[in-house]
Amino acid sequence: MPVLTRLIPSPLVVDIRPGALDDLGCVLADERISQSGRLAVAVSGGSGARLRERVAPSLPGASWYEVGGGTLDDAVRLAGAIKAGHYDAVVGLGGGKIIDCAKFAAARVGLPLVAVPTNLAHDGLCSPVATLDNDAGRGSYGVPNPIAVVIDLDVIREAPVRYVRAGIGDAVSNVSAIADWELACRVKGERIDGLAAAMARQAGESVLRHPGGIGDNDFLQVLAEALVLSGIAMSVSGDSRPSSGACHEINHAFDLLYPKRAAAHGEQCGLGAAFAMYLRGAHEESAHMAGVLRRHGLPVLPEEIGFTVDEFVRAVEFAPETRPGRFTILEHLDLKTEQIKDVYADYVKAIGS
Ligand SMILES: [Zn+2]
Repeated sequence: MPVLTRLIPSPLVVDIRPGALDDLGCVLADERISQSGRLAVAVSGGSGARLRERVAPSLPGASWYEVGGGTLDDAVRLAGAIKAGHYDAVVGLGGGKIIDCAKFAAARVGLPLVAVPTNLAHDGLCSPVATLDNDAGRGSYGVPNPIAVVIDLDVIREAPVRYVRAGIGDAVSNVSAIADWELACRVKGERIDGLAAAMARQAGESVLRHPGGIGDNDFLQVLAEALVLSGIAMSVSGDSRPSSGACHEINHAFDLLYPKRAAAHGEQCGLGAAFAMYLRGAHEESAHMAGVLRRHGLPVLPEEIGFTVDEFVRAVEFAPETRPGRFTILEHLDLKTEQIKDVYADYVKAIGS
């Protein structure tokens, strides 16, 4: 009988707990990712200095590289600097920009990447994509998944609370993204990858249903795990489908229409998800999701992130153009301006104040 199986690109190490950073060198040695301790560590020029001070004693063989920002040029520069040394792995220690730069640079020089995020702002920390600014705006570059993800919950607690909140919005939006995938399956015959959908849905639901808050380590643990699983779900399906539907199209529309004023990715995705749930007629689920987002201090109305209702309506109308080929509740309903305005008014009433 044939034994059919599939291998999932996934990290060798997922270490999420308070104090994980202090053991980074030992974990990488034990897992044979770096027995020599020769690591190229990418950190930001600003807040990276404090982290470096704290981590450097436990990584005596590491070389440190300051990364300017989140551009393709920064990533190429980092790759150029790293290739001058002999390293076992590249460590990205910092926020999303640093991790994405390190991801791209590691792929370019053929080294594995160890992701050590210092905030939980989105699900890109373990995904096979690096998002970098290029001359044309912003690009998504396919890269290997990190070989290890180390998340120190003590460090996460020190990050500005807004970043952790954003991660909640991004994780919860999975629930809406999966509903879009199921809709595309029903209406368009699109194939659902059941494993990817299961991982992404469970990740979203676990954050949505968790009674705790940002101040609790057990909540942060679940949130961090949810974001890691969302990234791996994208590797499983080979695209962002499990974690990106109408919620993310609305988010992209905000970014493209109002580039200077856009809010955090996860804030916009959470709002987009609550509204998309309402659009698809899941009114109770929409109100529940909005209630959870509110409880965590996330926006559920455009004015809470500085946009007028008309600006939001324009974003919803424009959203399908941000992801040609992706079928969601927005493409399905194909609403015109006045219809979006009407549904939005109903949404506001339904979620209450
Ligand atoms: Zn996202």
